[in-house]
Amino acid sequence: MSALKRMMRVSNRSLIAFIFFFSLSTSCLYFIYVAPGIANTYLFMVQARGIMLRENVKTIGHMIRLYTNKNTTLNGTGGFLSVNVSEISFDEVHQLFSKDVDIGPGGHWRPKDCKPRWKVAVLIPFRNRHEHLPIFFLHLIPMLQKQRLEFAFYVIEQTGTQPFNRAMLFNVGFKEAMKDNTWDCVIFHDVDHLPENDRNYYGCGEMPRHFAAKLDKYMYILPYKEFFGGVSGLTVEQFRKINGFPNAFWGWGGEDDDLWNRVHYAGYNVTRPEGDLGKYTSIPHHHRGEVQFLGRYKLLRYSKERQYIDGLNNLLCTPKVLVDRLYTNISVNLMPELAPIEDY
Ligand code: UDP
Ligand code: MN
Repeated sequence: MSALKRMMRVSNRSLIAFIFFFSLSTSCLYFIYVAPGIANTYLFMVQARGIMLRENVKTIGHMIRLYTNKNTTLNGTGGFLSVNVSEISFDEVHQLFSKDVDIGPGGHWRPKDCKPRWKVAVLIPFRNRHEHLPIFFLHLIPMLQKQRLEFAFYVIEQTGTQPFNRAMLFNVGFKEAMKDNTWDCVIFHDVDHLPENDRNYYGCGEMPRHFAAKLDKYMYILPYKEFFGGVSGLTVEQFRKINGFPNAFWGWGGEDDDLWNRVHYAGYNVTRPEGDLGKYTSIPHHHRGEVQFLGRYKLLRYSKERQYIDGLNNLLCTPKVLVDRLYTNISVNLMPELAPIEDY
C-alpha cells in the first residue's frame, strides 16, 4: 500500500513536472518561433523613426537655407548681371582692360586654366554708333572670360553712302575672321544688345542658336516665333552650309528673317536659352536717317530660291583691316556689285 502510494505520489509529481516542462518548452518554442517577427517589427519601427527624423532634419535645413538666402541660388545672383548702359569713353575702357595682359591684339583672349570648349569670333555690324562700342566691350569681355571661351571681336564698319547692310557686313566679317584664326563658332551680335545673365553661354551647338530671346524693349517677350534678330550664333560649319546671310537686304529689316528661313531650309532648328537666361538690355538709340528696306517682303518670299545664289558664295571684296587692342576693325564700302547676282 505504501509502495503504491509512493508510486502514485511519484507519478503525481512527475505529471506536474511533465506539465510544467511541457508548458515551459512550448512557451520557449513559441518564443523562438515569434521572436524574429517581434524583432523585425521592432527594427522596422526604429528604422522608420530614423527615416522620419532625417526627413525632418532635411526639411528644417532646407527651410533655414531658404530663409537665409532669400531668392538667391548658389552664387547669390543666379547669374544676373547689373547692366550699365551709361556712356563711357573708349580711352577709359582701354585703360580698364590695360591691366589684363592676357588680352591680345584684336581683343583675343583664351583661358589659361583649361582648354576652351569653343573658339568664338564675335562679329559686330557697325556704322556711326561710336558711343555704343565701349559700353559693349566693358560688358562682354568679363562675361566671356567667365564663360571660359576663347574669343576675339570683329567690328565690321560700313563706309560710303549706301543704305546699311547688316547681313552683308556679317558675311564680310565672317570671311575676314576665318582668314585671321581657326574659329569654330561665330556670334552675330548687334552693338546695342547687352546680355543680362552671364549664364547665357556664348558657345555654339548642334543647332543654330538665337541668344537674344527676351529684349527689354519688347517687354521681355519674344515678338514672334521666327524672330532671329539681335544676337545669334552658328558653328562655322553650319554657317557655311546655309551659305551665310543674304547680301541683298539694303536698309533696315528682313535679313534676320531670311537667315531663319535659310537655317530651316538647310534642315536645322533653332535653340534658345532657357527661361530668363535670354534676357537682354538694349541701349536706347535713334534711327538717324536709316532707311527701312521695303523690298524685304518680296525677297523673303524667295528665300529658298535665293539661298544658294546669294550669300557667302557670290561675295567678293577686300576690306581694310585694322587691329586695335580690343577688336579688329574691318571697314568696307558696300556696293551691290560686290555680291553679283543675276536676278537682283
Ligand atoms: N547698326 C549700326 N549703325 C546703323 C544701323 C545699324 O551700327 O546705322 C548696327 C548695330 O550693330 C545695330 C544693328 O546694326 O545694333 C541693328 O540695327 P538697329 O539697332 O538700328 O536695329 P533695331 O534696334 O531697330 O532692331
Ligand atoms: Mn538697335
